[in-house]
Amino acid sequence: MNMLRRVGEGVSVKNHESVRKRKDGSLFYVSHSLSPIKNEKGEIIGAGCITRDITRRKIAEEAVKAHDSLLSAVIEGITDVVFVKDLRGRYLIINSAGAESIGATKGQIIGKTAYDLFSSQIADQITDTDRQVLQTGLPLTYDETITVGGIERTYLSTKTVYRNIQGDVIGVLGISHDITERKDAERELIKLSRQKDEFLSIASHELKTPITTIKGFTQLLQKYLGGKDKNLEGFLRKMNLEIDRLTNLVNDLLDVSRIGAGKLKFRQTEFDINALTNEIIEDIRLAGTRHQIMLDGEINNMAVGDPHRVGQVLTNLIDNAVKYSPNSDKIIIKLGRNGEIAQISVQDFGIGIPDDQKSDIFKRFFQAHGPGSKAFSGLGLGLYISHQIIHQHGGNIWVESEEGKGSIFYFTLPLKK
Ligand code: ADP
Repeated sequence: MNMLRRVGEGVSVKNHESVRKRKDGSLFYVSHSLSPIKNEKGEIIGAGCITRDITRRKIAEEAVKAHDSLLSAVIEGITDVVFVKDLRGRYLIINSAGAESIGATKGQIIGKTAYDLFSSQIADQITDTDRQVLQTGLPLTYDETITVGGIERTYLSTKTVYRNIQGDVIGVLGISHDITERKDAERELIKLSRQKDEFLSIASHELKTPITTIKGFTQLLQKYLGGKDKNLEGFLRKMNLEIDRLTNLVNDLLDVSRIGAGKLKFRQTEFDINALTNEIIEDIRLAGTRHQIMLDGEINNMAVGDPHRVGQVLTNLIDNAVKYSPNSDKIIIKLGRNGEIAQISVQDFGIGIPDDQKSDIFKRFFQAHGPGSKAFSGLGLGLYISHQIIHQHGGNIWVESEEGKGSIFYFTLPLKK
């Protein structure tokens, strides 16, 4: 009646939307357009009405609205910074987390570019990555540090191109995750690790001097008193062996601190690996071991590297073979060649290494049979140092082992061409 009254006053009504009920009770959306009908005198005598069923359009519109509100609920629910920018770098969408991260409201950001919101240096940095993504069309993930109001925060950001339905690039989409705390913790860890390496270095240097003095005096005592008393001779031999063990431990600690600082030094010469192996076996026999050490094979070419360091690896592997095979007495060392590569192996028939720990034994301080295990002394450094030495020589080191049956440690070295 209202519409009719307005038509009676000569006004046309366009697309007036309302809901109607069908005979079966179901509702549907309609759009009415009404216009006056006049007689030949120009008087309004009625109204013409076109009614269109717009239910499908209405349902489609509602679906779009529901989709939009779902999307914005998701974007708002994300605690990371989420944004969309057009090709001119103007923010089209930013979520509350994004607005908060720069201490602004969403209204203050929408329609603005990075240059309106950040210092020009940071805006340059932001637009640079936008440009990269737009040029390559590929997603880009990177760490970025952004300072707002004097407060620096680090983000792990991913940017990607934003396309319309036709597939044309119309902007940039981005998400930034605040990793400031993680980065700070990482920096702190690196600092602590460096301090620990420095401490190791200082402590082992300080320990070395008195040990060298004690060693010197022990040898003097051996010389002057050794022959006079059998018991005394035995004590002094034991003392000397223990001083050597102490020296080896301190040397391992020194090497670890050198590796940490990237300062493990190598001499590069050619050396006879057969002779070196024989010397080491002889030294171990002289120091007294109940294990039989058998040598099998030989290498005819000279090896290239630092004989002292390679000897250190071999000694460590044989010492371990002895230490970790308390119930067997055989150790087999094999020397072989594969083209221009020497392969050396040390086999024992001892306790072996559990499968799940094989990949860890070359790591620093790792001990497969329990740290500080009562049964086996050690610091868990020998294999770590050996691994570093062999890799720096361009070789490889690995293990084959079965728990309860024994282990074979292998390493390779380049030979002289
Ligand atoms: P350490 O012997 O001082 O503990 P290493 O770095 O030489 O340190 O060895 C690391 C770990 O690897 C050892 O603690 C031990 O558990 C394991 N391992 C090394 N060699 C052998 C071996 N021949 N047999 C069994 N386990 C071994």
